[in-house]
Amino acid sequence: MTGPGGRGGAAGGGSAGGGAAGGGAGGAGGVAEAFAGRYGGLPDGVWAAPGRVNLIGEHTDYNDGFCLPMALPRVTRVAARRRPDGLLRLHSAQAGGAGTELTAAGLAPGTVSGWARYPAGVVWALTEAGHTVGGADVYVDSTVPTGAGLSSSAALACAVAAAYDGLYGLDLPGPELARLAQRAEHVFGGVPCGIMDQMVSVCATDGAALHLDTRTLAHRPVPFDPAAHGLALLVLDTRVKHDLADGAYAALRAGCQRAAALLGLPALRDLPVAGLSAALAELPPELVPLVRHVVTEDARVAEAVAHLDAGELTALGPVLTAGHASLRDDYRVSCAETDLAVDTALAAGALGARMTGGGFGGCVIALVPEDGSAAVTAAVTAAFRTAGHAPPAVLPAVPSAGVRRVG
Ligand code: ADP
Ligand code: MG
Repeated sequence: MTGPGGRGGAAGGGSAGGGAAGGGAGGAGGVAEAFAGRYGGLPDGVWAAPGRVNLIGEHTDYNDGFCLPMALPRVTRVAARRRPDGLLRLHSAQAGGAGTELTAAGLAPGTVSGWARYPAGVVWALTEAGHTVGGADVYVDSTVPTGAGLSSSAALACAVAAAYDGLYGLDLPGPELARLAQRAEHVFGGVPCGIMDQMVSVCATDGAALHLDTRTLAHRPVPFDPAAHGLALLVLDTRVKHDLADGAYAALRAGCQRAAALLGLPALRDLPVAGLSAALAELPPELVPLVRHVVTEDARVAEAVAHLDAGELTALGPVLTAGHASLRDDYRVSCAETDLAVDTALAAGALGARMTGGGFGGCVIALVPEDGSAAVTAAVTAAFRTAGHAPPAVLPAVPSAGVRRVG
C-alpha cells in the first residue's frame, strides 16, 4: 500500500512532457493567469490531475477485480479560491461560455447537467460525507482529450477534489479522494463507472503503473519505464466512439452480476482460474464468454505484474495481445477501428497491442521497440487512410504522477 502520489508537492514539481498547448504537466501552465482574467485576483492554489491508460485489466473494476493502469503526462489543472458566501463558480477553458454559478449547499444528484456536474458532484460528495466545505471560484484547463477514453472526466473530478481538499484543509487520504470523485461521477453525475480511473488519477507515481485491487483499494506502484528498456508505449486514439457504448456497458455489468449470483459468489473476482472450467459448465451460454473474459483478465493482470516486477518488459507484449483477443472475441467490446489499429501495429513490429478503456472505439496501446515507433505509427495511419478512417492521434505515454499541487 502507498499513500497518494505527492499531492502536497511543491509548486512547479512533477514531470513535464505532455507537450500540449498550455505547457507540460509539471507547472501551473498559465491557469493562475487565466483565473485572474476570469475572476480577478489570484487563486489560493493550482492543482493538476492526470488522464490515464490501462495497461491490462479491462472491465474488471466492476467485478471487484484487478487492473494495472498508469497516469499520462496529460493533466487537468484547476485553479481555485475559497469563497465565504457559499457560491460555487465554475469555468472551463474547454467548455467556454459564461461559466456556471451554483450554491454549494443546495446540490443534489440530477440537478446539474453538462460538464459542471463533475466539479459540483465533488462538492456534493464531500458534503454528503460530512466534510465542512463551502463555495469556491474554480477555473479549469486541460490537456487531456475529452471523450477519448483517457479519462478526462476522472482527471477533472480528481483535480477538483484535490483543490477542495487543499482549500478547506481536509487532508484526506488518496483513496478517499478517489472514492469521492467516483461518487461525483457515478451517483451525482449519473455516469456509471468503476473506481480505477479515479484511483490512478490520484495515486499514480512517476515511472510506474499502479497495481490496484478494486475491492480493497490496496495499490502498489509497479516500476514501468519502457524507455529504459529500449521500448515505448504508444497511445493511438482512433477518435471514434460508437453509440452503443453506454447501453452495452450497463448490459455487460448486469451480465457479470447475474453470473456471480448464479455461481453463489460475491463477485467474479472470487472465481479463480483453476475453477473456471467447472464454473462455465454451470452457466447459461450467453454468460460463458463474459465470465471467461473477466477471470482470465484478472489472471493477465497478475501475469503482467510478475513480468514488470522481474524487469521483463518485452514479455508484457503477448499479455496485451491476449487481452485484446479476449475483449474482441469473448467480451465483444472491440470494433473495426480498434481491431485494425491492433492488427496493423502488430504486423508493423509492435511487441503487443490492445484496445484500452471501455471499448466501442477510443484508444489502442501498443508496446513497441523505441526505434520502431515511427514505423508503427505510419503503418496504422496508412491502414486507417485505406479503410477510409481519419488518421489516429498519437500520444506519448510516459508513466506519470497522480494528482498534485502545482501552484
Ligand atoms: P473521458 O473520461 O474518456 O474523456 P467521458 O465521456 O467520461 O470521457 O468524459 C468527458 C466529459 O467530461 C466531457 O464531455 C465533459 O463533460 C467533462 N470534461 C472533461 N474534461 C473537461 C474539461 N477540461 N472541461 C470541461 N469538461 C470536461
Ligand atoms: Mg470518463
